[in-house]
Amino acid sequence: MVGIHHLGFPRIGAQRELKFVLESYWRGESSRQQLLAEGARLRQQNWQRQERLDWQSVGDFSFYDQVLDTSLLWGVLPARAHRPGAHAIDDYFRAARGRSADLAEGVAAGQMTKWFDTNYHYIVPELSAETAFHLQADFYVDQVREAQQQGHRVKAVLIGPVTYLYLARGADAATRAALLPRLLPLYQELLRQLQALGVAWVQMDEPALVTDLEDVWWHAYDQAYSLLPEAGPKILLSTYFGGIGEHYQRICRWPVQGLHIDAVRAPEQVALWAAVWPKERVLSLGVIDGRNIWRSDLSALLDRIAPIHAERGESLWLAPSCSLLHVPVDLSVERGLDPELRSWCAFAQQKLEELQILAQALRAGRATVAEQLAAADAALAARRASPRVHDARVAAAMQEIASLRRQRHSSFAVRSQAQQARWSRPLYATTTIGSFPQTEDIRAVRSRHRRGQIDDAEYTRLMQAQIAHCVAEQEKLGLDVLVHGEAERNDMVEYFAEFLQGFAFSSHAWVQSYGSRCVKPPILFGDVRRPAPMTVAWARYAQSLTDKPMKGMLTGPVTLLNWSFVRDDQPRTTTCLQLALAVRAEVLDLEAAGLPIIQIDEAALREGLPLRRKDRQAYLDNAVAAFALAAHGVEDATQIHTHMCYSEFGDIMESIIAMDADVITIETARSAMQLLDAFDTLHYPNDIGPGVYDIHAPNLPSEAQIEALLRAAGRRIPAARLWVNPDCGLKTRRWQEVLPALATLVRVAQRLRQEAAAEPAPV
Ligand code: GLN
Ligand code: ZN
Repeated sequence: MVGIHHLGFPRIGAQRELKFVLESYWRGESSRQQLLAEGARLRQQNWQRQERLDWQSVGDFSFYDQVLDTSLLWGVLPARAHRPGAHAIDDYFRAARGRSADLAEGVAAGQMTKWFDTNYHYIVPELSAETAFHLQADFYVDQVREAQQQGHRVKAVLIGPVTYLYLARGADAATRAALLPRLLPLYQELLRQLQALGVAWVQMDEPALVTDLEDVWWHAYDQAYSLLPEAGPKILLSTYFGGIGEHYQRICRWPVQGLHIDAVRAPEQVALWAAVWPKERVLSLGVIDGRNIWRSDLSALLDRIAPIHAERGESLWLAPSCSLLHVPVDLSVERGLDPELRSWCAFAQQKLEELQILAQALRAGRATVAEQLAAADAALAARRASPRVHDARVAAAMQEIASLRRQRHSSFAVRSQAQQARWSRPLYATTTIGSFPQTEDIRAVRSRHRRGQIDDAEYTRLMQAQIAHCVAEQEKLGLDVLVHGEAERNDMVEYFAEFLQGFAFSSHAWVQSYGSRCVKPPILFGDVRRPAPMTVAWARYAQSLTDKPMKGMLTGPVTLLNWSFVRDDQPRTTTCLQLALAVRAEVLDLEAAGLPIIQIDEAALREGLPLRRKDRQAYLDNAVAAFALAAHGVEDATQIHTHMCYSEFGDIMESIIAMDADVITIETARSAMQLLDAFDTLHYPNDIGPGVYDIHAPNLPSEAQIEALLRAAGRRIPAARLWVNPDCGLKTRRWQEVLPALATLVRVAQRLRQEAAAEPAPV
């Protein structure tokens, strides 16, 4: 008989209980006992949710992050986080975020980075050639006992040794891989302890297997997985976020007793594994999408699975494709979605129920779950046919794309003259990335308007006052290109999504982003259309206040896509082009309203980059095409800016060049050197504004720092094409910080400008 399990369940709680207790503990308002008790309660609740599965997972709970928990398990939290006599959990929080609940001075927080291609961030392990590991498994083993005492059949979950070393930093790959012989005995010891407790299965998460691996890692894998299966419990080697089919010969040689593969991201590998994976070993198929919120097509899945089940029987397991960490907890607490939309969705809890239906159908026949299958079929059919999903106007507009201009009229050199004729851009032109501080005041106005306590006219008046203030401050500072400040925007994606047809908003579709932070991505369920302008009135008002050029500010199609839950009934590239058409319409309206400059932010472009090199070019080509469709319908004299929030530029530079924005502003203040390296080999032909003010830190930049960054940039980029700006938007900073920082920035830019004017022009 088929088995069902899951790889991990969200730990934040359906009402974000974990967030609230964590933050209360950090503020000193809850005791450690309250925190630990809430953790135990959430684990208990989660195990109860899984009661009807064949295995209950232990080890997927975490007070902050599962990679950091693994560092704790092997005794390698950074030494700086340790305080003599402190409780382990306080050291743990110091390692995560620089401080725990105490008021004592903090330490440097652990570096945070994205977990593969998800929007979940983990704390990067810090290892070196000298690292010594010590097993500190009490907290982990205690959770196993806790589950057993509650009567559960435990499948223990661990991050596998190779993925753990692969994700670490502080030493090069070869050095980290060389730590494996030191680490494996600890895994073996823990496995023995788990076996002594009667744990039958251990799930070893090895998502690094779906990436392009260097040989050192393959050797590490050979070593790890020839040894670990001997230690005790059976090993379920678990992979997700991609396929591993091309490595099947090697992987089949590892004597692991089970293998989990992602059948959603890489459905093409299912037939292969069904054929080659020995029948006496467990094959776990991740058939339910662990990364998205849509209900599964259960009947179609059964058609696909039934023949494999007939062959393998109980050595077939079914599961979500990956941990359910990446989807919201429970649709039953959702209040924001209307009944129709709701009927199309499945959150983590509902995905477990889908698994139960599949298992029941395979075990006892489809007739025993006829009603549930019919309901799933009906929901799917309704979604497919819904007029809310399909809009003939959008289909018609998509047909027209080929006839739209997707390339600027003229080359950059010609455009730049047309732009110069419209407003004379000085050397070292200064600007900002768009947002200015989101004060209490601003948030209060927005929330009063949302609750209907002030009417539209009053709201407009109050927001215009904010814009006027922001513009006046920028004029006082002497900035060259101004912005309206984005006071009206809660979020750079949600703001636009609320204007666009095809998006919906939930009340509870929260997903953990890092630590206690959760995000609630908009739900892109249908054809995207822009019924009316979204930003034009604010931008036009801002321009009316000044003679300086005003920059209209938009979020680009790729970022709107990457930061939403996206429909799965058509290719993402199609949805992206629909978004691009909507942005294009806004761009053209801003141009018609007289805005001389328009910025299209693509903050999330790079994070959508596929894990495998072979898939990257297609992704980048589509991203460039979407940007071009959004941006390039304008006249030569309209200047297009784009902004990106990262400096790892080297490997995508050619695509960034291909986007052909007149100006690109990018994050570099912290890592100026990294960006500049890319310019040694590739020439960026248009204007560029490397960030010179690190807005993620509360520190004010000095004149000397800004000047040093600009001079470093000036060695690679001629002054004529160099802009001066902060790293990113200023919305999280306070005016007291922003004003002096920008004043310094302007002062340095003006000084360099005068210097350049005094020098004889190069011949
Ligand atoms: N224009 C946005 C802002 O200034 C850009 C934010 C971002 O790049 N993350 O806030
Ligand atoms: Zn940014």
